[in-house]
Amino acid sequence: MVVYSPDLLFIEMTKACDYSCLHCRASSIRFPSRTDLGMKDINEIISSIGKLSELTGRPPHVILTGGDPLMSPSFRDTVSALHDSSVGFSVSPAVTEKLNTDMLSFLMDKGMNSMSISLDGQPEIHDEIRKCNGLFRETLFSMSTIKDFGIKLQINSTVMRRNLMDFPFILKILREYQIRTWEVFFLIGTGRGKGEKPILNIESEDFLKYLLHVEASGTAVRTVEAPEYRRIKQMAMEGATMTGGGIFRELIKRSEEINVTGLLRSQIFPTNGRKIRTAFVSSNGDVSVSGLFNLKLGNIREDPLQNVLENNEILMNIESGDMFHGKCGRCRYRKICGGSRARAFAEKNDYLESDSLCAYSPEINEDVIAA
Ligand code: SF4
Repeated sequence: MVVYSPDLLFIEMTKACDYSCLHCRASSIRFPSRTDLGMKDINEIISSIGKLSELTGRPPHVILTGGDPLMSPSFRDTVSALHDSSVGFSVSPAVTEKLNTDMLSFLMDKGMNSMSISLDGQPEIHDEIRKCNGLFRETLFSMSTIKDFGIKLQINSTVMRRNLMDFPFILKILREYQIRTWEVFFLIGTGRGKGEKPILNIESEDFLKYLLHVEASGTAVRTVEAPEYRRIKQMAMEGATMTGGGIFRELIKRSEEINVTGLLRSQIFPTNGRKIRTAFVSSNGDVSVSGLFNLKLGNIREDPLQNVLENNEILMNIESGDMFHGKCGRCRYRKICGGSRARAFAEKNDYLESDSLCAYSPEINEDVIAA
């Protein structure tokens, strides 16, 4: 029996949210739905987590997400059930009046591990993406409150054409608020994200090198749907030059102009570490690898989660990398990187196809390496 053992299990409590962000992968709606996950579903998921833990010795860490998970009528009961079952969890809420000191006290009492909130650029861009004036200011206020509670806070940012050059500004905020972890999402054309323009592959290569310098200077960076970051790290370990082209230079220049310094002095690059495996249960019970990867693996209302993750051919193909098509199939980094299966599926309706975000060419680049 082959069991896929996720490190992180995302539970989409509801698609309801007060905002309708331009890049929302969930295509959020205004109110909770009667078909959202309820306590019967949550208890089934917790039971599956127990069985997965027995089988693999590694229970997944749960992330409660949405929409805005705080809008789910089952949110507090879910948190209590996770606490009572000793399942580690974090929360990814929207910045609204529901994210108040009463809620933070409750989550601290129930042993929440950490919290993540989103920041996508300077005030105009952040508010424009959320179609809500003043939300940038509210977000900074919430960050202060969360930090004052002693909660570990992570910032999530989605990179796309409209905000690529804003990342030095976001980094400045992270440093000012002493936030150690930055999760950078690379846009996938799913949900409302279909209407946004992703960055080009050549820009991505420069941006990933910029992130490598950010990480080397002390801020932990995790990329979502850009596994090429692991290939970049591996290339750095192999001695490849990590200064990039025009976008890289511009990002460094903009960083220095706003006193975000020390990036180019950081030459001891992090190792590529191990892959983080994820699974996602959507608000209607569908299971997939991630919220950005809409290939249904099963549904927890028809089959327990641990059954969905057992002997699953799609998961085995993704894990092995042996069936990948195109350049990902020929690439010597496919076991380290593997490309974004979510992007291949969204763009080509084939999760085994190559990742259009990647500028690496196995033939050309490996000739250069061999020369
Ligand atoms: S070709 Fe595919 S496997 Fe190789 S680095 Fe690019 S995305 Fe990763």
